Amino acid sequence: MQQHIEALSESKYCPLWHDSELKPEALPALSGDASCELLIVGGGFTGLWAALQAKERQPDADIILIEKTFVADGASGRNGGFLNSSLAHGETNTDHHFPGEADRLYELGEKNIEELLATLERYNIDARYEKVGETLVATNWGSVDKLRADYQEEKAAGKDVVWFDRDAMQAQVNSPTFLAGLWYRDGHNGIVDPARLCWGLKRAILDLGVRIFENTALDEVKPLGKNRMKAFCEGGIIESDKILMATNGFYNKMYKVRRAIVPVWDYQLATEPLTEAQLDSIGWHKTRHALSNDANMFHYYRITQDNRITWGGGGAVRYYFNRGTGPECADIPERFEQLSHEFFQTFPQLKGVKFSHRWSGIIATSTRFCMVPGVTYNGRVAWSVGYTGLGVGATRFGARIGIELLGYQPSDIIKMKFVTKKPMAWVPEPMRWIGVRLTQLALVKADANNGKRGLWLRLLDMMNLGFTC
Ligand SMILES: Cc1cc2nc3c(=O)[nH]c(=O)nc-3n(C[C@H](O)[C@H](O)[C@H](O)COP(=O)(O)OP(=O)(O)OC[C@H]3O[C@@H](n4cnc5c(N)ncnc54)[C@H](O)[C@@H]3O)c2cc1C
Repeated sequence: MQQHIEALSESKYCPLWHDSELKPEALPALSGDASCELLIVGGGFTGLWAALQAKERQPDADIILIEKTFVADGASGRNGGFLNSSLAHGETNTDHHFPGEADRLYELGEKNIEELLATLERYNIDARYEKVGETLVATNWGSVDKLRADYQEEKAAGKDVVWFDRDAMQAQVNSPTFLAGLWYRDGHNGIVDPARLCWGLKRAILDLGVRIFENTALDEVKPLGKNRMKAFCEGGIIESDKILMATNGFYNKMYKVRRAIVPVWDYQLATEPLTEAQLDSIGWHKTRHALSNDANMFHYYRITQDNRITWGGGGAVRYYFNRGTGPECADIPERFEQLSHEFFQTFPQLKGVKFSHRWSGIIATSTRFCMVPGVTYNGRVAWSVGYTGLGVGATRFGARIGIELLGYQPSDIIKMKFVTKKPMAWVPEPMRWIGVRLTQLALVKADANNGKRGLWLRLLDMMNLGFTC
């Protein structure tokens, strides 16, 4: 058997982060009708942060949160744990979609992370945060030039950045594929254990009096008179003044929510804990960089506290026809084999290492490559979805916008284009599937061609659409 397939032979299909004795029991499902002021649908970061911030703003708010399976079962308990302050996926994307708002969004993003970390302190949530910054590695020569130019620009702007040439980068983390590296040390970017973060938030909102029903799916919502809403759920009907949809990549019966995103599957692996000799062969554990390669179809990888490597992204990322989110998309051997193959290309010295866990999750991608908030039914139903692969930090801000749109201490933020501008709709099938797949193949080609973008990508760039996850 080939090495990269053999390495998967004992892996179990389960997110590493869920495989913990700290995982709480699911709370009882809804059984019978209920009533509240604010109903939150979805027990991921967006839903949990929304409940927490609404309670902090209005302590007597009567809130119910429903989750169709269990808290942290969505992307929030399955991600890489990279905590990043970006709200709108980089400067170019921000300037294109929200001209004139880049500086404000940058400040809001930094403040959001500071407040997020302060909240963890306040509620005694140990999410295993490590302030390691963000390190981009170049794996082709086009990327070396690009990263060097970025370094010079950031340095000139007074940012705390470190440049590694090939030898220096390989001394930090030893991979023969690394040609250079750029370490962003500014701010509070780092890594967390995402499930511990969800579970900590769950405990905090329960302590604040939020009622949580797990294994309770929302079917649909309807208005009830002029001021109330009726939510038809598994187990009963919930009447409320307001509803926040925090369902992200999952199917939502409300067209306005559903149209904002397409679900894109991302796959991940975790190794068994590395031995001292294996760690020494990489050297990574000394600085514990949060790494990703500066490529279109990039990998993101980090070290856990028990010295495993988690490895995700790359060529395995997929959009399935007609917004496929069923179980048939989740555990596909070819995707994990591809990931495993790419892992051993990066770390050939780890030959013989086994993967203990493999898992997948749904990224909600919007046409603007960042969150899409919205509100309808005269301010009674709001949503915040579509974080496009950068939601560990941004969901707290998305949740804040969601509750402000519902009237919980609204600020001038909800007047920004970032909130009011409607996203471009996704084209219908089969053009959608063909378009996403064509783009992905063009991105792979560009990566193999020193980052040089072909005609299709240049066309999409003109419309600022040349990106998939
Ligand atoms: C594999 C992977 C890796 C990622 N890595 C990173 C990373 O390193 N850094 C980063 O910043 N971002 C990353 N992301 C993105 C990030 O995880 C998401 O943006 C974020 O978790 C979204 O949170 P959410 O609460 O909006 O959605 P989710 O966590 O998906 O939560 C939505 C919840 O709604 C529930 N739900 C859906 N429909 C219903 C219904 N009808 N009734 C009741 N409940 C319902 C779902 O079960 C789910 O629990 C990654 C995503 C994936 C999938």
